[in-house]
Amino acid sequence: MNQPKPMNQASAGHLLRLIRRGQAGTRGELQRVTGLSRSTVSARLDQLFRAGWVREHAGDPVADPTGGRPAVRLEFDGSHAVVLVADLETRNARVAVLDLSGEVLAEHAGRLLIDDGPAVVLDRLGAWFAELLTKAGTGMEKVCGVGLSVPGPVDFASGEIVQPPMMPGWDGFPVREALRAALLRHTGGGAAEGEDGLPVLIENDANVMAYAEQRLGFPDCSAFLLVKVSTGIGAGVVVDGEMYRGIDGGAGDIGHIRLSGFPDALCRCGSYGCLAAVASGRALAEQLTAAGVPTASGSGVRDQLAIGQPDAVRLARAAGRQVGEVLATVVTLLNPGVLVIAGDLAGPPFLTGVRELLYQRAMPRTTAELQVVTGRLGDHAGLAGAGAMVVEHLYAPDRADARLAARAEVRGAPAAPGAPAAPEAPDVRESPHAEGLPAVPSGPAAPPFVPGR
Ligand SMILES: [Zn+2]
Repeated sequence: MNQPKPMNQASAGHLLRLIRRGQAGTRGELQRVTGLSRSTVSARLDQLFRAGWVREHAGDPVADPTGGRPAVRLEFDGSHAVVLVADLETRNARVAVLDLSGEVLAEHAGRLLIDDGPAVVLDRLGAWFAELLTKAGTGMEKVCGVGLSVPGPVDFASGEIVQPPMMPGWDGFPVREALRAALLRHTGGGAAEGEDGLPVLIENDANVMAYAEQRLGFPDCSAFLLVKVSTGIGAGVVVDGEMYRGIDGGAGDIGHIRLSGFPDALCRCGSYGCLAAVASGRALAEQLTAAGVPTASGSGVRDQLAIGQPDAVRLARAAGRQVGEVLATVVTLLNPGVLVIAGDLAGPPFLTGVRELLYQRAMPRTTAELQVVTGRLGDHAGLAGAGAMVVEHLYAPDRADARLAARAEVRGAPAAPGAPAAPEAPDVRESPHAEGLPAVPSGPAAPPFVPGR
């Protein structure tokens, strides 16, 4: 097990993390927090300035009670690169170009059937991304990574989608390679990381939505649960600010827990009586249609709920009770502070049903402090979470140091001391930025800093 090293061995990547998290905003604060000397902090910062990752700006004079010259503030420069993100639903997709602080530079939503299979869908995403880059006034040379949110279980390490009930033809498909190839076809290439090495991160939709909603709305909540109810049903768990995936990405796949009492409800996974076969948007669309209100999909149910259609309201509340019954166990196991309900059915009738069963079935001790609410990001949670996932991955201390070292090497200068090679995540390779300037040797050589967690 890795033991944390003292902060006085902090690398440029660690200083970047302190700056990004607001734990240090000036050179003096960096010295105090890390114990590094002034010259070492300067050398580490020079690496970050050369990469364009950190910028300085004059401090606010009002903030300096002594009336002296305000310290120059340091901040992460979220405009030095962009991230491409896509949120795949079963019948629609939303794509965007984001800067590194999550601001949307260009966005598009359109019809895209996941049933058409990965080759068709990923090629279309490549075309959409090419259009959006033009619209955003930028190009592949500024793209540092791609984040993809999908409605199925994902093995994050391999990037493969694993036996997805709602994504026929996607099981084990090489999504990363196909998406890189589609980007190359439609943009002509030129990615800063190189097309072969452009990081493509794929994650389950409920997980990225949970990640985004927790960071935005409940940053202090150490145990956070989000349940997405759209075409299917899935849960995302964020513990201590990190997605909890289980051993191979299967955590939170609650839609296929089988309920008793529904032996005839056929699920898309092939089983009968799954929660998703009874209480998902797709199931409610069928139930509404049978009740004489023709409804094609989960988004159709959402439209009916928006106008207060009585059958839709009644069915959504019943679905909430069924989901709530399963969540009583989930909540008892996790003891979360917040449960966010998201997706097509997220609204008062469904929430009421969830609360009814949750408070009735779970112990009062478990639910006493639990907030059950709808998300704040709505349809943008998937994009926001996918973007944050890519940025946190690429600018984590070890990976940031490896990228800085690669930038230095490509210009013929030795890698900066104290910038250890990062352990590679499988197939998320790094290659140098084209625009990198040579690194100057930084402060005294330090052994690799091993992060605490
Ligand atoms: Zn199922």
